[in-house]
Amino acid sequence: MKTVIEGREAESGGHIAHAGAPLVVLFAASPHGAANVSSVVLGQHPRVFPTGELKEFPYGRQINEGKLCSCKSDSTACSFWRAVQDRYAPFVGLPRDEKVPHLYRIIAEESGRDIIADVAHDPDRAEQLSRNPRLNLRLVHVLKDGQAIVNARLRHRNLGLQYAGWRRLDRTVKATRRWRQHVSRLRDLEAELGPRAMSLDYKLLCENPAESLAKLGTFLSLDLTPIAAKIASGEPLSSAPHQLRGSDKLMGNVMIRYDDRYRRQMSYLEALAFRLTMALT
Ligand SMILES: [Zn+2]
Repeated sequence: MKTVIEGREAESGGHIAHAGAPLVVLFAASPHGAANVSSVVLGQHPRVFPTGELKEFPYGRQINEGKLCSCKSDSTACSFWRAVQDRYAPFVGLPRDEKVPHLYRIIAEESGRDIIADVAHDPDRAEQLSRNPRLNLRLVHVLKDGQAIVNARLRHRNLGLQYAGWRRLDRTVKATRRWRQHVSRLRDLEAELGPRAMSLDYKLLCENPAESLAKLGTFLSLDLTPIAAKIASGEPLSSAPHQLRGSDKLMGNVMIRYDDRYRRQMSYLEALAFRLTMALT
């Protein structure tokens, strides 16, 4: 299905974007910060197409042999992304700020949806996209408990087995600092963007989806009530049609649950190192 997107120019709030250009909703968070899953939540809305992280598309890590698209095809063989790549090829040599609006436009046309949900785990990229005057963009800063993020980082790919004793504590301190810096940069970006940005508390989304999605829905002028009802009923959400680079957990039906594994997994010393870093930096 393809839609025709008009090319009229409109100016609003110092931002020049094509009136018919898709709305880009950028979910930004530190790694393990629930940005991908939050984009899948919004992607339950029929106007929204969640892409997964499009950093340096198509030369980033999205399209690689062995890397699956959420349609379960290999990312190199997925017909949707092949079509996007073919149409985007003439633009890839352009400067970054000029080419990326073409990418979002092509994805909108190929998917037939006028809202694209992208993900940024890199604060530099969140800043670059948010400041690009050619994009019609809204930033959603996803907030998740720092201990849950640091714990996930420590246990990612069995790093916990490689680092024992004091080295593990050193890693806890570094991961905590990195997470805090990330949050601080995204907070500054939120302040800079004013009404074009909001924060989304992931714990609230899990525990009170009606309240959380009412806020997100108002921000984006979308009715997200049916999605909130689905999460509240404990029903799994459908995976996005063609999402790249999401975790394996987002490949099949998606359950929205708060990540409190850190309560069981973090050692006393790791939790102490987290709290001391928070208090002293
Ligand atoms: Zn696919």
